[in-house]
Amino acid sequence: MQHYSGLSLLRHGLNHHENWPRMWRNPVPKKAYDVIIIGGGGHGLGTAYYLAKEFGITNVAVVEKGWLGGGNTARNTTIVRSNYLWDEAAALFEHSMKLWEGLSQDLNYNVMFSQRGVLNLGHTLQDMRDIRRRVNANRLNGIDGEVLDARQVQDLVPMLDCSKNARYPVLGASWQPRGGVARHDAVAWGFARAADALGVDILQQTEVTGFMMRDGQVYGVHTTRGDIEARTVGCVAAGNSGVLAGMAGLKLPLESHPLQALVSEPLKPVLDTVVMSNHVHGYISQSDKGDLVIGAGIDGYNGYGQRGSYSTIEHTLQAIVEMFPAFSRVRMNRQWGGIVDTTPDASPILSATKVKGLWFNCGWGTGGFKATPGSAHVFAASLAAGKPHPLAAPFSIDRFNTGALVDEHGAAGVAH
Ligand SMILES: Cc1cc2nc3c(=O)[nH]c(=O)nc-3n(C[C@H](O)[C@H](O)[C@H](O)COP(=O)(O)OP(=O)(O)OC[C@H]3O[C@@H](n4cnc5c(N)ncnc54)[C@H](O)[C@@H]3O)c2cc1C
Repeated sequence: MQHYSGLSLLRHGLNHHENWPRMWRNPVPKKAYDVIIIGGGGHGLGTAYYLAKEFGITNVAVVEKGWLGGGNTARNTTIVRSNYLWDEAAALFEHSMKLWEGLSQDLNYNVMFSQRGVLNLGHTLQDMRDIRRRVNANRLNGIDGEVLDARQVQDLVPMLDCSKNARYPVLGASWQPRGGVARHDAVAWGFARAADALGVDILQQTEVTGFMMRDGQVYGVHTTRGDIEARTVGCVAAGNSGVLAGMAGLKLPLESHPLQALVSEPLKPVLDTVVMSNHVHGYISQSDKGDLVIGAGIDGYNGYGQRGSYSTIEHTLQAIVEMFPAFSRVRMNRQWGGIVDTTPDASPILSATKVKGLWFNCGWGTGGFKATPGSAHVFAASLAAGKPHPLAAPFSIDRFNTGALVDEHGAAGVAH
């Protein structure tokens, strides 16, 4: 693998940047692998990377029906934070945050992780009570967090309308200084490049169409490029997880919904933190390119058509313009949707299934980007050991039978 450094940039510059090697191979599928990962998003590619790097399992294929990151990974609004309410979720997301903090160095690839801080606004007394409860819980778990009053919020974000007669008055916020954003497609590419260098086969344009199963054990997958064998298969297919589970005769407690985002024309720097509001269902940050990156809540209906309805976007923009009146004249450039897999308790599923060897990592819903390295790491550990990693154990599918839910609904602003 070509090591990226200032020196290699200089060397290639002398050759007019014409000889950069490809970042990953485009191999022909082998007949069999030790592990197959379905889904070439950040979580799937990261799982393959950690399997190879930390557990020495390099005979791995990532099977992706489209292109790397073409699912939710490169459609999200890139917010990273770990200020979740319950111990189990806080531990998993904080594990991820710690991996984010060294990820660019670990992958030798700049994922542009920028810890510019995340604000979750409170607009009512009850919002503020919830914020206090969550920040206290975070601090008990060793996660950074502060409760800010309206004046402190105004100091941090001068563009935000914190006046008393605002339609959505800002009473305060929770503030996680270590939160921030990262460049989402770089995360997929960085993991892909590093996994490929360790021997992982990345098979794009290869759709899984069924599972090979015998005596309750999976032994491979049917794909559009032929059958591929493996006795361990990890499904990391986000909004398509329910479809894949159906192919194995399983039913997951998931609903697939469209979730939309949009970006504006590029502006000079005006917003150097992430502002989220659960109450008005909108959140906003500014990308390094200058675009305002805006996200909404889910569209209420189920669907698989990576786009959403106009009314949801309109509702979100109304809220954004109320909070940031100065943005009312900004033109929007692009809008898109992803398909998010939501669970009844708004927490993910990292779990074995009743089919031996078949595991699912899904249910991240509207908020799994921030979990990418942590989820991938604990899922790889679980696949390698054949039993759940301690941080993954509370997120077993069994919790929907036992009732031991990890209910993170609205616990931290909008669930992104
Ligand atoms: C608009 C939007 C905004 C969001 N904002 C945030 C945010 O700010 N912060 C945050 O933390 N999270 C956010 N999320 C959620 C986050 O993007 C996801 O939880 C996360 O990216 C999921 O990653 P993944 O790798 O599991 O899934 P994906 O990136 O969706 O990858 C799954 C892959 O599986 C492939 N696949 C599916 N079926 C098959 C098959 N049969 N065969 C082969 N391959 C298959 C798909 O093509 C896809 O590439 C947002 C999501 C959206 C849509």
